Amino acid sequence: MEFIPDEQLKLLIQIQETDSQIIEIVEKQKGLPDILASLRASLDKAQSGLAEAIQDCDNDTKERRRLEGLLQDVEDKIKKLKGRIPEIKTNKEYQALLKEIAAVEQEKSDIEEKIIILLEKIDSLKSIRIDKEHAVKEEEKSFLEEKGKIEVDFNQLSERLKVLESQKAAIGSQIDPKLLSEYNRLISSRKGLAVVSVQNEHCRGCHIRIPPQIFTEIRKNDRIIHCLSCQRVLYWKPEGG
Ligand SMILES: [Zn+2]
Repeated sequence: MEFIPDEQLKLLIQIQETDSQIIEIVEKQKGLPDILASLRASLDKAQSGLAEAIQDCDNDTKERRRLEGLLQDVEDKIKKLKGRIPEIKTNKEYQALLKEIAAVEQEKSDIEEKIIILLEKIDSLKSIRIDKEHAVKEEEKSFLEEKGKIEVDFNQLSERLKVLESQKAAIGSQIDPKLLSEYNRLISSRKGLAVVSVQNEHCRGCHIRIPPQIFTEIRKNDRIIHCLSCQRVLYWKPEGG
């Protein structure tokens, strides 16, 4: 059990511990929007993948309709040409008409083949689209779940922060105002670390070696001693304590 006779030093150690926890929580809270943003990006990616699949399906469906229109046209043309057969007078005219009909029949079969290929493509696009719809649903589900968890975490951290802030205020009210303002100055200039222990005769803030005479004084833990290098308040904590 460590014994710290100097009440002010003890309070400084306590306020530093509280501040360190506050800083940790604030950092955690700061990181939460980034986590959410990366989940959002993953959902956006799935959604744009689906939008692309829908667009592909729509384009090919339009093309199918266009080809079906063409097919109707050539079928009408064939019908018309065949309708002219009874009016034919010579064999030459008859052969020419048959040739013309054969050409349009070929055109018809080319269009039919294109439609068959397109229908197969549309089928596979539809199944891709269904997969993408599932992917979006999964991403939405996990996004909402994670968002909920993050909100709970955020609120819990906010509650913890309130408790720590009031603890800090209570400790601060017992510290000599001059010492407290010095502490606050160090907190902001020394990256949130104003009071540090000495470990293996080294300042834990800047890692400089403490001269033996000063170390002997620090071990007493009975007055405020600053690190000669970083100005942080130093105290001694038994090893493993
Ligand atoms: Zn130092």
